[in-house]
Amino acid sequence: MSEVLGLIQVGAKTDCPLDAFMDPISARFPWFNVQVFTPFPDPREALDSRRNQYHSTRILTMLEAQIPRLHVDRLLGIAPFDLYVPGMNFVFGEARSPGRVGVISTCRLKTQSPNESELFHNRVVKEAVHEIAHMTGLKHCSDKTCVMYFSERLADTDHKKSEFCERCHSKIREMLRIEQ
Ligand SMILES: [Zn+2]
Ligand SMILES: [Zn+2]
Repeated sequence: MSEVLGLIQVGAKTDCPLDAFMDPISARFPWFNVQVFTPFPDPREALDSRRNQYHSTRILTMLEAQIPRLHVDRLLGIAPFDLYVPGMNFVFGEARSPGRVGVISTCRLKTQSPNESELFHNRVVKEAVHEIAHMTGLKHCSDKTCVMYFSERLADTDHKKSEFCERCHSKIREMLRIEQ
């Protein structure tokens, strides 16, 4: 039986319909049954109003609390607002590694012009795949074209592919087999 991976919008404001990400995520994680869930409300308690950013680790805790209700094995939140962890100006995403929850922000992935929607879509896929892989226990990769390369800036995200390098691909398979 395959694990259920849930995708959930965090906060009511939708800037990308999650259905569009089901196929690309399923293609990279064929071991998971990917499902989309309705949004959960704005996680006010995670907001630092002085920074105007949300503390991503607090959101992970809130997502963990949703797992029994949604009957999923793992859950990835997609948030439209900016995320941070203390000690960093911002993060594109964060995940428990290994663990059951992750979150990404689409805030810094937005493009200048609306006709670059494919670029935006690809960026979201890359960040989502990256955090889901962290959830399985995969670590960062030194290959700049691998989806597991750490993105310090958007240029890093644009440079890397949405796929795993050969080494990461075999590692993830190894890890998932151990878990089952
Ligand atoms: Zn990472
Ligand atoms: Zn890699």
